[in-house]
Amino acid sequence: MTARTSDIEKAAGVLRDGGLVALPTETVYGLGANAEAPEAIARIFQAKGRPPSHPLIVHIGGAEQLDGWVQDVPLAARLLAEHFWPGPLTLVLRRGPRVPLEATGGLETVAVRVPDHPVALALLSAFGGGITAPSANRFGSVSPTTADHVRAELGDAVDFVLDGGPCAVGVESTIVDVTGKTPTILRPGGVTREDLEGVLGHPLAVPATSRVRVPGQHPSHYAPRARVVLVEPGRVLSEAALAQELGHKVGVLQPASFGEAPINAYAVVRVPDAPAAYARALYGFLRALDQQACDLIIASLPEEEGLGLAIANRLRRAAGPRPSETGSG
Ligand code: AMP
Ligand code: MG
Repeated sequence: MTARTSDIEKAAGVLRDGGLVALPTETVYGLGANAEAPEAIARIFQAKGRPPSHPLIVHIGGAEQLDGWVQDVPLAARLLAEHFWPGPLTLVLRRGPRVPLEATGGLETVAVRVPDHPVALALLSAFGGGITAPSANRFGSVSPTTADHVRAELGDAVDFVLDGGPCAVGVESTIVDVTGKTPTILRPGGVTREDLEGVLGHPLAVPATSRVRVPGQHPSHYAPRARVVLVEPGRVLSEAALAQELGHKVGVLQPASFGEAPINAYAVVRVPDAPAAYARALYGFLRALDQQACDLIIASLPEEEGLGLAIANRLRRAAGPRPSETGSG
């Protein structure tokens, strides 16, 4: 889906005036502001309810613009940018003087990527600068993968919503820190570890989900309203039946290859076996179960290879203790 030229122009004008634009990308919808305007960036944190220490991603129009935003680009970063941009890969590099500390949560590093979506690229080109954008949802909740999700969640807090259709990848970008001796995956996402290793020519460490590697993150993130409980794939239905007996309104993410779901008994979503299809639909499923007023979602983890690594990461985070339970606010 391509937005009209007049909409792109309007959105670019909103960015120039210090406003907020929700923009489609191939991963999820972003909440964008002029990456060089600290006051506009402050509005992002207000709109999301996000702690200002939690850094944002700077979106640029092409790999050739990278040196305008960062310093000390190592060879590995050039290789990765060349192979995967535009695409769902975010590189963490040393901040250049153009990037205000407001965008990096006070860090001397900055996260940068080139989105692979015609509407995002048209907006970046019309605007001419960088657009700093986290996902266009309230802090900690499920990322939006359609323009309607954005409107439902952020409403008037956004000055303009650019509709680019449903997101093709559906989970956030892979974040790779290239400031150290060897590149490190900070967050699995739309570019797989296997693809990264193929380009770099050596293995990469898988991040431990239990440890908080990326600054400013709560244990719980990407979370629907309903509590999420993870069980073995073969036990999803029996656990759901048990929880239902205990009086819960249970939603089920049922692996397609694990038996027939008793369709009338619960809010059941049959998740696709193909990881790309599952990733594309995951956040929509979680939103749908929230809309059906489930208070509990029973799910299992997919195989943690390829895109399955990102899906498992999001489900684990969704199942993590909520801020009210950890006392961390
Ligand atoms: P979001 O788009 O909402 O997923 O947020 C952007 C993600 O990028 C968050 O997970 C941030 O913690 C991460 N991020 C942004 N800048 C940096 C940085 N300099 N170092 C490490 N992670 C970063
Ligand atoms: Mg987010």
